[in-house]
Amino acid sequence: MELVTGEVSKKKNRAVVLVHGGAWDIPDEECEDHEKGLDNALDLGAGLLQHGSAAAEVVVQVLSQMENSGIFDAGCGAVLNEKGEVELDAGMMCGDTKQWGAVAGVKVFRNPVKIAQKIASEGKGQYCFLANTYAERFAREAGFKPLLNKELICAREKRRYDDFLSRSTNYHTSHPFMKADTSWPRGTIGCIALDSEDRLAAATSTGGTPFRMAGRIGDSPLPGCGFFANRTGAASATGWGEAIASVSLCREAVFLLEQGMRPIEAVSSVLGKMYSSVENLDGQGATGGLILLNSCGEGAWGYTTPRMARGWVVVDQNQRFIKVT
Ligand code: ASP
Repeated sequence: MELVTGEVSKKKNRAVVLVHGGAWDIPDEECEDHEKGLDNALDLGAGLLQHGSAAAEVVVQVLSQMENSGIFDAGCGAVLNEKGEVELDAGMMCGDTKQWGAVAGVKVFRNPVKIAQKIASEGKGQYCFLANTYAERFAREAGFKPLLNKELICAREKRRYDDFLSRSTNYHTSHPFMKADTSWPRGTIGCIALDSEDRLAAATSTGGTPFRMAGRIGDSPLPGCGFFANRTGAASATGWGEAIASVSLCREAVFLLEQGMRPIEAVSSVLGKMYSSVENLDGQGATGGLILLNSCGEGAWGYTTPRMARGWVVVDQNQRFIKVT
């Protein structure tokens, strides 16, 4: 297993944002776009934190912008399922209140993370996770403007889908996260933040795995799996969703923070454990990526996939990091 990790900084920080744009074998020609997308995301996140926005608002605004960019596997850039449709999943959680919201299988709205946020605030614990047409009905009633599914299909992904159709026989959901398989695009997005009042939040949004079975839901909208936040930590994951869910990757990482581990150690530990305990059909260990932040503003990222688009900004120190390869 090749595990790559890094830290935000060893110092205690306030007002920190970490983002990821998916863990996979990102082709060289797509790196610049990914970097640009992360840079814009960090600009927005830093600006919002500077103006006193709450962490939960920051993670949602940052991911909405990334959903709109068309660069990543989310919102307008989403990969297509086996039927050639866009199906979007997203979830968000507020660390101090433990409020969370999630949606899955949304086909006619471009910003599922905003719908998840609305569910978190309006559901009041009565409902937190809505799927398919019921999620869409909620969004319509809440005033979100629907589109046609075909308006969410971008030309790049339509071309790729047509290409998949001719060679999809051996496809498995875990394959996109293995080495040298750049032919399957993916790039789920995630954001975690700590604001100046020490509140943590996490959000994740995705178009899922390419060519996914219609109705298949991965880890991204599942709390504790694709995203999680409490008063101790916040996490967002990307990678083979079925494996991530089977080890509750984000909850497990925050649990290790609760036991006193530093974020970089927790990231290494949970990704290593997932790799060694879950195998795909080819007998290979499960791969993925994670960003993690504790309540002191110490953060870390890590991945076992060939690459991961990742970045962070520490607002009060004016420090920033972005890397894709
Ligand atoms: N985890 C996502 C899923 O399985 C895909 C990804 O992270 O790229 O739906």
